[in-house]
Amino acid sequence: MAEKIGLQTLVDRSIRNMGDGINSVVKEGAIEMIKQAYKEGIFVQITAGYRSIAEQNKLYAQGRTDSGKIVTNARGGQSNHNYGLAVDYVLLSSDGKKPLWTVNEKWRRVAQIGKSLGFSWGGDWKSFKDYPHLEMMGGLTISQLQAGRRPVLVSFLSNKVSAKPIKTTPVKILPAKSTIKTKTTYDLPTGVLKVTKPLTKGAGVKVVQEALAALSFYPEKGAENNGIDGYYGPKTADAIKRFQLMHGLSADGIYGPKTKKTIEKALK
Ligand SMILES: [Zn+2]
Repeated sequence: MAEKIGLQTLVDRSIRNMGDGINSVVKEGAIEMIKQAYKEGIFVQITAGYRSIAEQNKLYAQGRTDSGKIVTNARGGQSNHNYGLAVDYVLLSSDGKKPLWTVNEKWRRVAQIGKSLGFSWGGDWKSFKDYPHLEMMGGLTISQLQAGRRPVLVSFLSNKVSAKPIKTTPVKILPAKSTIKTKTTYDLPTGVLKVTKPLTKGAGVKVVQEALAALSFYPEKGAENNGIDGYYGPKTADAIKRFQLMHGLSADGIYGPKTKKTIEKALK
């Protein structure tokens, strides 16, 4: 049997992945979470922490102006990672070699430990669930962070107060460029999308909306970015319905394999 990964290895890798810009209280909390989980036989590693604005913009370009799959909806300055206040985690096999992405009991247990240490968990979000994500916002909103404010975080472990703010100048957000004009291929999601409660949200829905917009079925005229927001709500369902009607499909407003294929054909 393969040897069990050491706790120190998990901590060392995680510290490296969190980066220098990570808030000290966030870092301390993440390390403590790894230790507590380890005691329960759960092997956790932090995969990401601080990301610079430039790194975030590069990540945002992925799947849009760069190759690859869309992995984030946040431009530089719009992610809590840009302020060193968030980490992402993954479970590892006991030998530390294999990442385990299944959100199971153990995964939720880690989130619970994280929450007991002051983190908020992305798996609790209502609209878009981000299961690997943990953050400490200290009661501030992303707009306040963008405006230059920084939270004062208090460590749950030592009552230490976080180091002085990393950066206090306002962050410039790159203007939202329309992805409709520059994008020529649409990586349409597989599977079924329909109006759910809460609404399904994600990069896949956004691609569907962008494709519908390119076909002139989905401009919510006057709305910001034509209403392309990544939520599969009634407006998206309505656009799908109209598209289906015009292409001889049963008009149920549900995006599935048949609709996907027909959209792809229509885009050619
Ligand atoms: Zn995250």
